[in-house]
Amino acid sequence: MLEEKLKAVVRDIPDFPQPGVVFKDITPILKNATLCSEITDAFVEYVKSLDVQVIAGIESRGFLFGMMLANKLGIPFIPIRKQGKLPAHTIAESYKLEYGQATIEIHEDAFLPGTKVLIHDDLLATGGTVVAAAKLIEKLGGEVAGFSFVINLEFLKGEGRLHRFSNNVISLVD
Ligand code: IMP
Repeated sequence: MLEEKLKAVVRDIPDFPQPGVVFKDITPILKNATLCSEITDAFVEYVKSLDVQVIAGIESRGFLFGMMLANKLGIPFIPIRKQGKLPAHTIAESYKLEYGQATIEIHEDAFLPGTKVLIHDDLLATGGTVVAAAKLIEKLGGEVAGFSFVINLEFLKGEGRLHRFSNNVISLVD
C-alpha cells in the first residue's frame, strides 16, 4: 500500500531546523522513481474527481509533486513563493509562525478570475502556510477547489482550518 511505502522511507530528523522539532524528511522519496510515479498517480486520480483547472504549489517542496501533477493532468502549474523571489508583479500574504512571521507571494497574472485552483504542498502542519496560499488565490478572484499533501501531521489539526476554503483535502500519509 502506498501509505505503508511512504511511511517506510520518510525520515524523522530530530532537532531540525531547531532543537525540539522532529522534521519529516521527504527527500528519500525522490530517489525512488517508481514511488514518485505512484504518488503522482494517486494525486491524479483524486484531482480528476474534482473540477480543477490549475495547480498552485508552495515553495519549495510543493513544487516537486505539484509540477508533476499539473503536467500529468495537462494543466498549468503556478508557483507560490517566499517574499522577494517572484520576478513580475506580485500580491502578498503574511502569516504567523511560532516565532515571528512569514510572507508568501503569487504573480498577480497567475490565472484569470473564476479559475478553480488546487493548492499543493508536501506537508500540512498547523495549516498557516496553506491558509495564506488560499487567501492569495481568493484575492486574485480564484476559487480554491481543494488541497493536496503528501503528509498530514494530523495531531497539529491544520486540516480543520482549510474547510472554510474547500472540503476537498487529500493526504497520502497521516
Ligand atoms: P504549516 O504552515 O505549519 O502547516 O507548515 C507547513 C509548511 O512547513 C510546509 O510548507 C512544509 O513544507 C513545511 N514543514 C513544516 N514541518 C515540516 C516537516 O516536518 N517536514 C517538511 N516540511 C515541513
